[in-house]
Amino acid sequence: MLSWDDYHNDEPLKKFVPQPIEALADEPAAPSITPEGTAGNIAGNKGLNSSAAAALLEEAASAVAEIQPAAAPVEVETPVEDIAQTPTTMTGVTTLADASAAANDTPATEPADASPAAVSPEPVPTVEDNLEAPESAIEKAHAAVAELDVAPGLEDLEMGAARIEVDDKAMINCRADLNQLVPFKYEWAWQKYLDGCANHWMPQEINMTADVATWKSESGLSADERRIVERSLGYFSTADSLVANNLVLAIYRLITNPEARQYLLRQAFEEAIHTHAYQYCVESLGMDEGEVFNMYRELPSVAKKASWSLNHTHSLSDPTFKTGTPETDQELLRNLIAFYCVTEGIFFYCGFTQILSMGRRNKMTGVAEQFQYILRDESMHLNFGVDVINQIKLENPHLWTDDFKQEAIQMILEGTELEIAYARDSMPRGVLGMNAAMMEEYLHFIANRRLAQLGLPEQFPGAQNPFPWMSEMMDLRKEKNFFETRVIEYQTGGALTWD
Ligand code: FE
Repeated sequence: MLSWDDYHNDEPLKKFVPQPIEALADEPAAPSITPEGTAGNIAGNKGLNSSAAAALLEEAASAVAEIQPAAAPVEVETPVEDIAQTPTTMTGVTTLADASAAANDTPATEPADASPAAVSPEPVPTVEDNLEAPESAIEKAHAAVAELDVAPGLEDLEMGAARIEVDDKAMINCRADLNQLVPFKYEWAWQKYLDGCANHWMPQEINMTADVATWKSESGLSADERRIVERSLGYFSTADSLVANNLVLAIYRLITNPEARQYLLRQAFEEAIHTHAYQYCVESLGMDEGEVFNMYRELPSVAKKASWSLNHTHSLSDPTFKTGTPETDQELLRNLIAFYCVTEGIFFYCGFTQILSMGRRNKMTGVAEQFQYILRDESMHLNFGVDVINQIKLENPHLWTDDFKQEAIQMILEGTELEIAYARDSMPRGVLGMNAAMMEEYLHFIANRRLAQLGLPEQFPGAQNPFPWMSEMMDLRKEKNFFETRVIEYQTGGALTWD
């Protein structure tokens, strides 16, 4: 049971330090809102004479008069990832860095004629000393709100424009307001969002006890079976992070439809759950985390798949990348094909099949169950991606040229080739009732399906599915066996204690 303290133990609250009595004695009895009274307050607080304080007030008043209301849009000059390193420049807004510089710049605010007697003994500067008088700050806020320009934002708003109609919406390059979810144009995208939520699960719900015993026992798994578990966790532990980063940093802003974005947000969370699931397996089994999480950079058959995906993120994750020309729209399509059809649609299939086959043989059933839920989510990611690609094709037929179709076929073939190499590396011999040749046949079958889903000709005529049980695994319904294996309850706000 989590307690309030578990959520609030970062840092103890700073204690309020009272000012010395002598300093308080110099303060006026009550604050006044007249300029003279305010000058008196400032003089009292800062140990100034009242004419110097009046000068300060005048300076503040003229600064207020010169404020440019925030009519210009916020200018974000740096990519999202760089925010921590580089202060963001925003028009009309004082940044924390500015405030901190100003706080260290107190001598400049002292009048030249301040007499040493008036500032002795040196008062300890308080937070209030470095801030504007409340009256001045409130006046600034009034002025800013009165002149607030309602147009600026991340995406252009057309104030007073006609209400959004379904036909105004489009999958890419849409100029209609993206903050309004309804009316729906793509009911299928909304339905996938609902289905994704209905399939919600968390890695800790799955019992890993038997897996830990099997993994730690000398005779629990053969060397070839252990190799499969290690390779799978090595690839997947970072692959879902690559997918999540591509979604959030590259695709999201370019898909200009609110219901599709709603699904993208759900998908992004599912990718986080998948990465969590792999981490949970690695931790439960006591595997070497450094080795597992670095495999995508260190082991060639895993690294090639990861770098193939990453190569298709680069141009889109550039914050200056924009769609709107045939070339850039095709670049977005390439990214969607690379991530939805190849990464999630081909690169996941050898590892999934191997681990699920292990589970069917009653080995590593916890890991296998994690993979089963992930596969169910992934098959929906893939279907969503295919629908998005086909919708973009429908709305922009000029993009789907013969050259581009050939390029898409080539991408699917490259992905298939890389996955076959991975199958050979992870299965040097027959294991779990399968071998690399059977996996090659399966991947040809999968590649044909991906091509057909995109309306492209199959490249491996007659390829058969040697693992028909895989489709059952994908169609898993939650109520079938989910609750039998559920071991803990969700930790929600309802579990908090407030004492
Ligand atoms: Fe995914």
